[in-house]
Formats: sequence, C-alpha cells, structure tokens
Amino acid sequence: MELGTYQNFIGGVWTDGDAKETFAVVNPATEETIATVPNATASDVKAAIDAAHAVQPEWADSVAADRAKILRVAAQLMRERVEHLARVMTMEEGKPLAEARGEVAYAASFLDWFAEEAMRVYGDTIPSSSRDKRILVLKRPVGITAAITPWNFPSAMITRKLAPALAAGCTMIVKPSELTPLSAFELARIFEEAGLPKGVLSVVVGTDAPALAKVIMDDFRVRKISFTGSTEVGKILMRQAADTVKRVSLELGGHAPFIVFEDANLEAAVENAVTCKMRGMGETCVSANRIYVQRSIYADFVDMLANRMAAMKVGNGLEDGVNVGPLIERAAVEKVKRHVEDAVAKGARVIIGGTSESTRGYFYPPTVLADVDHTMLVTQEETFGPVAAVVPFDTEEEVISYANNTEYGLAAYYFTRDIGRVFRLAEQLEYGILGANDGMPSTAQAPFGGVKSSGIGREGSKYGIQEYLDIKYLSLGGILD
Ligand code: ADP
Repeated sequence: MELGTYQNFIGGVWTDGDAKETFAVVNPATEETIATVPNATASDVKAAIDAAHAVQPEWADSVAADRAKILRVAAQLMRERVEHLARVMTMEEGKPLAEARGEVAYAASFLDWFAEEAMRVYGDTIPSSSRDKRILVLKRPVGITAAITPWNFPSAMITRKLAPALAAGCTMIVKPSELTPLSAFELARIFEEAGLPKGVLSVVVGTDAPALAKVIMDDFRVRKISFTGSTEVGKILMRQAADTVKRVSLELGGHAPFIVFEDANLEAAVENAVTCKMRGMGETCVSANRIYVQRSIYADFVDMLANRMAAMKVGNGLEDGVNVGPLIERAAVEKVKRHVEDAVAKGARVIIGGTSESTRGYFYPPTVLADVDHTMLVTQEETFGPVAAVVPFDTEEEVISYANNTEYGLAAYYFTRDIGRVFRLAEQLEYGILGANDGMPSTAQAPFGGVKSSGIGREGSKYGIQEYLDIKYLSLGGILD
C-alpha cells in the first residue's frame, strides 16, 4: 500500500526544493515502497537555515506562554491522530502497532512536559561584593538549532529535541533518518496546524546525510546541534562542531548490561528482561544487550526467558497480535546473524531462535543464547536485534567489572531486593541511566543521557531545556547614583 508522495518542509512551505530526484521509503515488513520523497540537497538545507535566521529574533522574543500553547495544541493533535501516526510509523519502521501507539504518546509527552518548562526558565540574582552593584543571571535561547535523528524512534527522538528547543525560543532544522522521514513530516504538519510561525521549524531529508549535515555544521548561524545515532557519526559531528564552536548534545550508542541477582523477584526480572530486550525488536540504544544472571538462578532464568520469548508472535506490525516486527533493513538482519553465528562458533547454546528463513521482509526471530562469554561479539558490540545473550556470574564485584568493561555508558539495569546493593551499584556502574528493578526507565520528566562514549548532554526533564539556553550575566552598576 502506498501512503503517497511527501515533500520537504522548508521555511514553512511544503516543497520539492532543489531536489532533482526522489527516493523511496520502504516498508521493512513487505519490502514495498510506501512513499516517495524529494531527495533534498545542500541548497535545501541552506534555505531552511536562511528561513530560521529570518524569524529567530522574533521567535526568541515571543512570550513563553504563547510558545507553550503551540506545544500543547500540537500534543493534543498527536493524540487525536494517534491511529494515523502509528500506522505510518509501523509501515516505515516496522514496530508493531501497539508499540507505535505507545511511541506517539511518549513523543507527545515531551511536548506537554516542555510546554510547562517553557514557563519556568528562571534566572538568578547573586549577592554582589559592592553596595553599588547588582548581579543578575539571564537565560536566552541559543538561537538556530539543528537535530539529526535516527530511525528507531521516528517521532520521539524528534520531539525530545524539538520540544525543548521551541520552549526555549530556538528555531530548529530537523534532518530525520532517510529510512523513516514520514513520521517527521507528519509532525511538521501538526506543528503547522498548531500555529507555529513559518520558518521556526524545517524538516529536510535526503539520502546523502553527510552532505546535508555538513551544511548545518559549517554554518556559523546554527548555534547548536543535537544528534541521536551511532557513536561513529556522533564523533564526526563533534569534530565538525569545533570549527564554529557549536554546542553539541549527543545521544550515542549503548551496550546495556541487565543484571539479575539471586535475591531478585525472578518473575519480575524475566518480564522486565523481555520488555527491555524486545521493545523495538531490540533496536534501541537502551536495549538489554548483555544479560548477567547469578549462577544459582541461571538455569531457571534462561528457561523462563526462553518460554516467554518463544510465545511472541513475529510478523507485519499492522497485523493483530504481532509483537515482534521486522528489523529496519537487510543489513540489520545480517549483523544479527553474524553475532549469533559467532557466539555459536565460540560455544554458546541456542535455546530458541537462532536462524532466519525469512525471504520477504527483514525478519529475525526472538533468540535466546545461553552460556555466552566475553569473547563473543554479542558481548562486545551493540547487537541491535532480538537476541538475548545470557551470561552467568558469581559475585557482585565480578559483575560490576563486567558491566563497566565497555566504552559505552548509557543505560544499565539490575534486579535485587537488597537496598544496600541498589545504592552500591547506582554509584559504581558507569552509566547515565540506572534501572533498579525497572527495565523501562525512560520518561519525559527524567534526564535521559549517557556517559563515556554514549554521549554528552541530557534530554527530557528540567535539565533538557538548559541545553537550549545560554546563560548571560548582567552586572548592573550605579545603583547608588
Ligand atoms: P543508526 O545506526 O541509528 O542508523 P546513524 O548514526 O547511522 O545511526 O544515523 C543517525 C542519523 O545520522 C540519521 O539521520 C543519518 O541519516 C545521519 N547520518 C548518517 N551518517 C552521517 C554523517 N556522516 N554525518 C551526519 N549525519 C549522518
């Protein structure tokens, strides 16, 4: 089924821009083209920046309550259109409809949250060392910003950046993934209807991501870049940002450990492992990538996990009852295969799954691997697929060193009823997000972000809006004149 032709949204106008050709958006469940999109060029990005530049001063000086209202109206429109938005998302990304609906609600929650934060951009007054002076701290929007976003959360990864940007008074150019641009265009439609002034938001997408990004990175007028994607691309952008001294927020790769101690609630740990592993088919940067289970409960845990995952239904996410959709593209399936074959060759046991016979659609079945060790690729790299790799461990000290033995530091999970251990691990695990007895910690009011090679900056929460604000210090003299 075709969803139709979409256009780029540049400076408040739906347009083919300077595109000489179109590119196809493909449904990963059927490998059919669902839409064609003009393949944006560098000059289209430049036009979007010019448009943002023209309106940035007025938008920065607009009243916070008015910006908040636009965000609230947009959130409401998202909720009213959840069925349509979820369908588009499932067709371009593959995740089951129920998950797509969940993502639309999650994406809208950032609009609600930052509508309120817009009203709380407070400054400070600081006692001065002179009776004749006063010291004030003001907050101002950083100016034109840009977001480069991935395909795995086609809506939420945009609103998590766009909402604080708009709330703070920044304009934004969004360059979504070329694999999932339709949800981004749907969001732009919603903001247009919600009354966002022309030029404040542009959505520009093309297949030559490095060329489009380069225009953003080289333009001094763009004062901040927020990126979610691979560590490899994040490093490129960080280097490029140096030349114009742009602020950067980077949400990069993860390699999440999921640790189950013998004193944990085992049923809850299994349920959380399934959700944390299988949400988005395992294609998220916070997916449980290495599951560590204490030896006394190891065999039981593996059995219970395999039973739960074997009961999951794989198929086209538009169909009822399906809870595992396709991966995003053929290369993703190849990577998962490579990881599983490598693990098996090095002695891992396949409990369920482990082979993909799919000829149409990029499917890989839920897979549980037991007796995994640290020589295997599954424990060294992000698998980004529905493979639960379960490693046994003996002591708390040992598992902390396993968990930290990676360059990544986004999310870590652990299950225990020992309150002392909850705090010991919270302090010792080198991760930005900790789920203690919780496999799904992401929420709009909490700070999301990583340490080490997982990135810089935080999204969501009261901290998220600070990434879009500059601090200005006003020293006011002559008080006694
Ligand atoms: P993922 O592994 O999640 O696909 P990527 O880092 O490849 O992560 O992609 C995330 C986003 O970065 C996408 O919008 C993609 O188009 C864009 N991108 C890919 N390569 C580059 C690059 N060299 N410069 C800037 N953006 C890029």
